[in-house]
Amino acid sequence: MNEALARAESLIRTIPDYPEPGILFRDITPLLADGAALTAVIDAMIEPFAGTFDVVAGVEARGFLLAGAVAMRADVGLVPIRKAGKLPRPAASVDYALEYGTATIEAHDDIADGTRVLLVDDVLATGGTLVAAHELVGALGGVVVGTAVLMELEALGGRAAVGDVCSVFTA
Ligand code: AMP
Repeated sequence: MNEALARAESLIRTIPDYPEPGILFRDITPLLADGAALTAVIDAMIEPFAGTFDVVAGVEARGFLLAGAVAMRADVGLVPIRKAGKLPRPAASVDYALEYGTATIEAHDDIADGTRVLLVDDVLATGGTLVAAHELVGALGGVVVGTAVLMELEALGGRAAVGDVCSVFTA
């Protein structure tokens, strides 16, 4: 890992017992606030997939912050994957299990059939969110070429569920 990335990693703040007891929350806001660190991680997220995708799909909410930067840097567009009820005209929705209960994500049909899509999120934990996002993009006719995350929480095993994931940092 180069010096810029090592510094970026040091800017991720770990907050115990948020939002629930027992969770180690990875707060990326100090990293986002640092221009050099943000540029380093965005370039690292793009690098394994450079030239392979036509559009970025970012997962609400922190995934949006990274996906916008990835899209601009890679000179492609961005499709937001939103929580249920936020979009005026959703074309597809996917339900998935959370630790407690279920959630639903939705997207507009702004992905032409066969479009190559890079999924982007901040943290890969169990993988449930990104598996659902993958399914959603497929339902819209897109082809997921891979998934880029800033941080992967290895112990939670999300990689096995999601498949082709590149993470900048692991914890
Ligand atoms: P999962 O579906 O279990 O892979 O959870 C991934 C989603 O939950 C991502 O969108 C993350 O933003 C969020 N998330 C899960 N665990 C954490 C954590 N420990 N710190 C920060 N965000 C998390």
